Amino acid sequence: MPTSGAAIAIENKKHLIVAIDGPAGAGKSTIARAVASRLGFTYIDSGAMYRAVALWALKANIDVDDHLRMEHLAREARIEFVPGEFTVMLNGDDVTAEIRTPEVTQAASKVSIVPGVRRALREEQRRIGKINSVVMEGRDIGTVVFPDAQVKIFLDADPHVRAGRRAAEVGTAVDEVVKEMTERDQRDRTRAEAPLTQAPDAEYLDTTNLSALEVEEAILKLVRDRTSNGKARH
Ligand code: C5P
Repeated sequence: MPTSGAAIAIENKKHLIVAIDGPAGAGKSTIARAVASRLGFTYIDSGAMYRAVALWALKANIDVDDHLRMEHLAREARIEFVPGEFTVMLNGDDVTAEIRTPEVTQAASKVSIVPGVRRALREEQRRIGKINSVVMEGRDIGTVVFPDAQVKIFLDADPHVRAGRRAAEVGTAVDEVVKEMTERDQRDRTRAEAPLTQAPDAEYLDTTNLSALEVEEAILKLVRDRTSNGKARH
C-alpha cells in the first residue's frame, strides 16, 4: 500500500536502526563508526558490552560456567559509551584499552555463550535503540536484537584478510590471530543462543577487495535505498 509505505519512510527518517553483523576482522568497527558519524547516529559496539562483562567477571573471579552469577553481573554492569568518542566505561571506569587484551577477548567469546548474559545485554541494546537512531554492530543485531531493523548488513571477508587486519590492529603475529579468530568464529557460529548467521533480509558485503570508503559508500547507498519514499521495507 503506497500510503503505509510513505508513512514508514517518514517514520524511518525519524528513527532508524542500521544493523551490521559479521565475523571478527570483517571491518565492522571501522565501518560502523564511519557510517554512524556520516548519518549523525549513535554508534554502539555490542561486542564491547560482552567484553566489559568478561572483564568484570575476570576481575571478580567469577566462573563463566556459573550462569546465574554471570547473568546477575551482566544486569548489574553499567556500560556506557561516551558520545562522539570511542571510550567505553564500565561502572564509571574507563576500560577502553583493558577490554581489548587477548585474555578479555577469549573470555568475552565464552561469556557470550551464556543465555542469561545475552538476555541482559539484549535488553540494554534494545533500550538504547528505542531512544536513538543507531548503527549497532555485532553478531546477532539483525537476527535477534533488532529483527525489524530497516537496514541490515552482513560484512564478511576472506579469513586471511580478516586475520591480517586483526593482527595489524592488535600488533600480534598473523598465525596466532588465525588460530584465535577461527576458534572464536566457530564458537559464535555454533552456539545455541543467537549464533552468528546472516539474516535473510541482510545485504551481504564482501570487503576483501574493498577500501573502507567503498564499503562505507555502499552502506550509505543502502540506507538511502531502504528509507526513501515508497521504497522502505522492513
Ligand atoms: O566484536 P568483538 O570481537 O569485540 O566481540 C567480542 C565477542 O563478543 C565476540 O567474540 C562474540 O563472541 C561476542 N559477541 C556476541 N554478540 C554480539 C557481539 C559480540 O556474541 N552481538
